[in-house]
Amino acid sequence: MQYIFLSHDVDWRRQGPPIEHVLARRDRFDSKIFEKTKPENLYRNIPEYIELEEKFGIRSTFFFRTFYEDGNVDDYENDIQTLQKGGWEVGLHTDPQSVNSIEKIKQEKDKLESLTKKPIVGNRVHFLNYNTELPSKLKKLDFLYDSSLRYSKDRIDENEMGFSKIDGIIEFPVTLMDAYLFTHMKIQEERIVSEFQKALDIGRNLSEENVISVIWHDNVLKMKGGRMYKKILEFLSSQNDVKILRGKDIATNK
Ligand SMILES: [Zn+2]
Repeated sequence: MQYIFLSHDVDWRRQGPPIEHVLARRDRFDSKIFEKTKPENLYRNIPEYIELEEKFGIRSTFFFRTFYEDGNVDDYENDIQTLQKGGWEVGLHTDPQSVNSIEKIKQEKDKLESLTKKPIVGNRVHFLNYNTELPSKLKKLDFLYDSSLRYSKDRIDENEMGFSKIDGIIEFPVTLMDAYLFTHMKIQEERIVSEFQKALDIGRNLSEENVISVIWHDNVLKMKGGRMYKKILEFLSSQNDVKILRGKDIATNK
């Protein structure tokens, strides 16, 4: 079986970026979508992700930060409740400034758990700011897995898939991520599904039991490129040897 660890990083405050930021990036959107969508809803897509994944019978992991520029993770309380009630996993999107301090990571975990009301077992550092001392800190804080590791910015190969056990933590390297596909690899949107196909084929050649970890950021769903998400789910769901899961589903069985 080829397992897909499907995840979304929630990088922006609930109200979205400042209006100037959005206006400066209006060419990332189809002009009709841009005009008919309230600015604060251009970057915020949790309800749309829920609806889409529900249609495919899929559950994924959402990583939330606890520090938002000019915002507060408390604003996401209702979204977090809705996600959890529906069976989605909530993980911690640790601040890059916290990774060297176990106390800071603990504070972030405690903060997010005050909203989830249950233990958080999954971690991913914002900007994938991984270092080799991180797993042992996460282990001490009762995390089960991490997914912050990426060896290169522009390649999809056997190093960027599967998992390893590091200091008691299951580490899932990031295989496919929207931002890398569109910026570093310059993949046109009509080629996106075939990149998923390629990654899957590498995985199939590697092992009958493989893991491909996917990040599709919360903010990209209405953008050019990011809007291919539905096509990606259609493709993955059509493959008999593919199972799409939350991080903790895969980590628990390893
Ligand atoms: Zn992030």
